[in-house]
Amino acid sequence: MSMDNVSFDTILHGGLVLDPATGRNGMFDIGVTGGRVAAIESDLSKAQASEKIDVSGKLVTAGMIDTHAHIYQHVTGKFGLEPDLVGVRSAVTTLVDQGGPSCMTIGGFKNFLAKKSDSRMLCYMSCYLVGGLEGHLYPELHSPSAMNIDHSVRVARENRAMVRGIKGHAEIGGASRWGLEVLKMAKEIARQAELPLYIHLGQMWPSVEEGDVPSADELIRALVPLMDPGDVLSHPFTRHPGGFVSMDTGEVHPIVFEALARGVLVDVGHGSHFSFEMAKRVLDAGVRPFTLGADLHGYNVSVPGEGLSDADRSASPFAGSAPFNLTVAMSELLALGLTLDETVATVTSNPAKLLKMEDEIGSLQVGRVADISVVEILNGRFKLSDNSGVDVVTDKLVFPRFCLREGRKIEADSPLIPPPFYA
Ligand SMILES: [Zn+2]
Repeated sequence: MSMDNVSFDTILHGGLVLDPATGRNGMFDIGVTGGRVAAIESDLSKAQASEKIDVSGKLVTAGMIDTHAHIYQHVTGKFGLEPDLVGVRSAVTTLVDQGGPSCMTIGGFKNFLAKKSDSRMLCYMSCYLVGGLEGHLYPELHSPSAMNIDHSVRVARENRAMVRGIKGHAEIGGASRWGLEVLKMAKEIARQAELPLYIHLGQMWPSVEEGDVPSADELIRALVPLMDPGDVLSHPFTRHPGGFVSMDTGEVHPIVFEALARGVLVDVGHGSHFSFEMAKRVLDAGVRPFTLGADLHGYNVSVPGEGLSDADRSASPFAGSAPFNLTVAMSELLALGLTLDETVATVTSNPAKLLKMEDEIGSLQVGRVADISVVEILNGRFKLSDNSGVDVVTDKLVFPRFCLREGRKIEADSPLIPPPFYA
């Protein structure tokens, strides 16, 4: 059918369209009408549109999905960022809060934040009654006695559209206090609610000295048998004890391969603990992340105009000063040798599958909601830094320009977008 006389609300003209879900990879024009993708054609230059946007030289993908956000603003204290700064104003259309809202606090997340934000907001609900207050600052709020399986299962079921999984932590500070009890209860919530379990790896709380203090290696050995296909291990590249790399051998823990063979998925959960050295070791061992996840929060980024002092920030084990966001993390995956197609998949098609929303988001297809990200791949010499003092020079930097969210154009003007650092 000729598109010459068709009229659209918006046409994105001349971009490189990359859509791992469908295998589409090439120059296409995209027509959007009524908040939906109405056409993807090699040439819509003769079609009518209220707004024609030239995206030549830009990369056009399905709306990016950040699988690890901390956006329960105000309720999680300084930890929770303003959703749209992390989301649409960074060209990211969908945010998955990891463990901020809980069975007791999800009402605020839904009614005070998600309803007034332009970004699509979903969550992996915290397994703890209080959720992720102030980034889990006080361990005693996250003990087995501060959990309730029935309450959590009921609320997860009642909020099925928003709650896409359950969040828990496997880390030696908690294990030194309560053993594996918290993890077992988190798994039970996930099992009864028929949702995947997302596990944070890497130390979060200081260990207590009395009793049997498990090693990080013992902990991951005990954890993996609790996990099912579709559950998620996060922070594989952490420089903190307890990630994928054994502190004893310096190699990827053998049980990680057992978990992956069973269908357990890997989310990068970049954060401030991302380490190039660990990432290289894990990737060289053949492990591939399924999803990316930026893991930005108030202790690892500075929000201009909001006075979190350096002292406040460094009180957190997740403090960091190396600037990053989702597109910087994408640039790092490229620098580490992943292909552009693999990298785009970690923020589009794969997270959509993780969320069991692959029929709605994560792919550019006619008839779908017009959540579309437009980024530019800058060429030059750029410096990427981690918080262990390693700098990597790369020649490609993914930089966000704008997104369409349900067809509406929103500029990527977030103050959380780090400027390019030229090497
Ligand atoms: Zn996190």
